[in-house]
Amino acid sequence: MSNDPSIAPIAPLRGEFSDAATEAGFLHRQAATILRDLRRGLLLCSLFYLVFGATDIAALGLAKAIVPLLSRLAIPFVAAACLFYARRPAASVRATGHAASAFTLCWAASYFVVICYRPADILLHAMAWAVMAMVIHVLIPNRLVHAAAITAGASLVFIGLAWTRHAVETRALSSLTMLLVGANVFGLTVAQRHARMWREQYWAQQVLTNLSIRDPLTGSYNRRHLNAGLLDGEIARARRYRLSLSLIMCDLDGFKKINDTHGHHAGDELLRSFATLVQTMTRDAIDTVVRYGGEEFLIILPETRLDGALELAERVRAVFAAQRVELEDGLSLGTTASFGVVGAEFGGSHAVTPQGMIALADQLMYEAKHAGRNQVRAKQLGQRVEKVGRVA
Ligand code: GH3
Ligand code: MG
Ligand code: MG
Repeated sequence: MSNDPSIAPIAPLRGEFSDAATEAGFLHRQAATILRDLRRGLLLCSLFYLVFGATDIAALGLAKAIVPLLSRLAIPFVAAACLFYARRPAASVRATGHAASAFTLCWAASYFVVICYRPADILLHAMAWAVMAMVIHVLIPNRLVHAAAITAGASLVFIGLAWTRHAVETRALSSLTMLLVGANVFGLTVAQRHARMWREQYWAQQVLTNLSIRDPLTGSYNRRHLNAGLLDGEIARARRYRLSLSLIMCDLDGFKKINDTHGHHAGDELLRSFATLVQTMTRDAIDTVVRYGGEEFLIILPETRLDGALELAERVRAVFAAQRVELEDGLSLGTTASFGVVGAEFGGSHAVTPQGMIALADQLMYEAKHAGRNQVRAKQLGQRVEKVGRVA
């Protein structure tokens, strides 16, 4: 998620985020809740649907009600199969939606079997189907488009059956049609409202989380995010897959003097320009730029060897040193930065801790300062070999 707090667009008809990645993130976050709703919805629907088998026996007698009863009895098994499909360990984030659609389709098909055996009760069936259509929209966590297509399609078949079989007189047929149209429209409207509400809530949460882990001046991540286990997570991943991991600690040179001479506003602009430069020169969604202190930044580079990190630090150093920031009052400002680079390979057995890596990067950055600033110092963790970046 970027630093932009504006609401992500939601497609009105689908009731989903227009951006597929945002929608996938939402589904992923809600997965447990959606699965719980599916389980409760399917259980409740199956139970009620089975109990209504008593009306088949009352209308047809036990002997003639065997087929409708069997079609009702199939529904709890379909529900169990759908839940099993959605709960598989390897199930995709969309599996719950697929399971909900499959159940809904089977439920509608089963009800048509019941209707075929009891055509005289078509008006009662219409009322029952109106309730089922609402339940499908409200209680079963389906994709909006799928639920709308299934309930509308089944309602049309329903009206067609009543029409072609002359099961009811015209006056009742128009009431039946309005009842089903109403159930579809109201059900869809409530489902759409729910879909939008859940997504707006999710987005608000995302915005708040993002605000709490970002530095407002530079848009970089803050220490809170780093302290929440960011580097520990990267080290654990690198260790698990035997990857490389590098860190760059950087600090602007002579920054206090810039503040003292040109004011804090000028200093802020320079800080912002450095952070923007680092963010554009690093990989989106892979590397992380953290504002470690006032004018000190930590760059975490997963799957990056020391030589790659050193090359990046050297490029940032050179571009920043050549760059000038134009201020509103016509002032043109520039400074340099010093860098400490640490690389770690996780193929071996030596211990690497976040604190150890940061402390070494910090130490190397201070060595660069003491050696005259505008320099890069680099070292492989656990090795004695020390590389020194070019001096401008
Ligand atoms: P060196 O080359 O050794 O790094 O010297 P320096 O002047 O950059 O370092 P020093 O630590 O003496 O000063 C850092 C200054 O950064 C002091 C502080 O006022 C300033 N600073 C910290 N945060 C901000 C900020 O958000 N905005 C501005 N404008 N200045 C800041
Ligand atoms: Mg400094
Ligand atoms: Mg500093």
